[in-house]
Amino acid sequence: MDHHDDAELLATGALPGEDHVDASLRPGRLEEFIGQDRVRRQLELVLVGARQRGQAADHVLLSGAPGLGKTTLAAIVAAEVGASFRATSGPAIERPGDLAAILTGLEPGDVLFLDEVHRLPRTVEEVLYPAMEDFQLDIVVGKGPGARSIRLDLPRFTLVGATTRTGLISSPLRDRFGFSAHLEHYEVPELERIVRRSAQLLEVPVDAEAALEVASRSRGTPRIANRLLRRVRDVAEVEGEGRVDLDLARHALELFDVDELGLDRLDRRVLEALVDGFGGGPVGLTTLATAVAEESDTIEDAVEPFLLRCGLLQRTPRGRTATLAAYAHLGRPAPRAGAAVDPRRPGAVPLFDVDEDVRDD
Ligand code: ADP
Repeated sequence: MDHHDDAELLATGALPGEDHVDASLRPGRLEEFIGQDRVRRQLELVLVGARQRGQAADHVLLSGAPGLGKTTLAAIVAAEVGASFRATSGPAIERPGDLAAILTGLEPGDVLFLDEVHRLPRTVEEVLYPAMEDFQLDIVVGKGPGARSIRLDLPRFTLVGATTRTGLISSPLRDRFGFSAHLEHYEVPELERIVRRSAQLLEVPVDAEAALEVASRSRGTPRIANRLLRRVRDVAEVEGEGRVDLDLARHALELFDVDELGLDRLDRRVLEALVDGFGGGPVGLTTLATAVAEESDTIEDAVEPFLLRCGLLQRTPRGRTATLAAYAHLGRPAPRAGAAVDPRRPGAVPLFDVDEDVRDD
């Protein structure tokens, strides 16, 4: 698929597979959006202000881990100001001309959602600056000596940028957003409300205890809560009578390898490698990734943040180490002090030997 198809697919919101279901579970208005109270309140003020002035809202930058509601909030911005919503993403816009085509197609007040805004090519980013600031587009027409630059006026639009990595956004781009907000992971009671709401929309009867069980294994992430709910529903429909009680929820989650803390198989394999293979560490990221036959990026982006948040893993200047909680979670006896330096333990690494790859950790 080339980038044009990609951009179009995103723009129409016609995403394949379960994203369809995801879309149907999306809260449509700010008041339906659960949790993130501070951000919701701030955004409300921004939007009410814009509505009162009859103007497009300021550009909004949303950051936070995947699945926390950035796309949902962007669509809500459009709904709240009564504008239409267009979506695309940084990597889908390869050339300035791609951006020009999108921007010139906007109507006054439209909300343009730009996911993964940190992955915009530099040349595109530079075209975006005057578009955001002055609603003007400078484009070069023609090639070689006959090429000339023309300036087009754009309608006033609202750009909602989303990123999982605020640190990777250049400061000129960051400065052009009038409002930025960071989404945190959700607390269990909030996830429980999300599970109940989704269960209602999916018309699955879920007991209160079962909703709590699903919520507490969702890693603080609404998208995961919804995904687990769908898996639990599958089991209820196939093996049970459709109703989800605590026993069925536990059974289903076990079947899909989601443990009490929400760790999946890969999370547990990493933790086991660290504890059993490297005597609890410290061990470098690359070594750990090799031990579980995964890419370092996968470990760093998809596994480590959650293990850190759970207090099962620590990052030290010498590498990753397992905490006592990790031993307890895996049902291993707590290590004796200094156990990691015992050379007779298979796979144990000396405590002060700097790994080849910890420097870039
Ligand atoms: P992101 O863009 O941050 O990756 P999304 O906005 O796509 O996350 O959210 C993922 C899914 O989680 C959505 O389909 C939505 O149903 C659900 N969701 C996210 N945040 C909330 C929330 N605060 N309340 C209810 N559902 C939410």
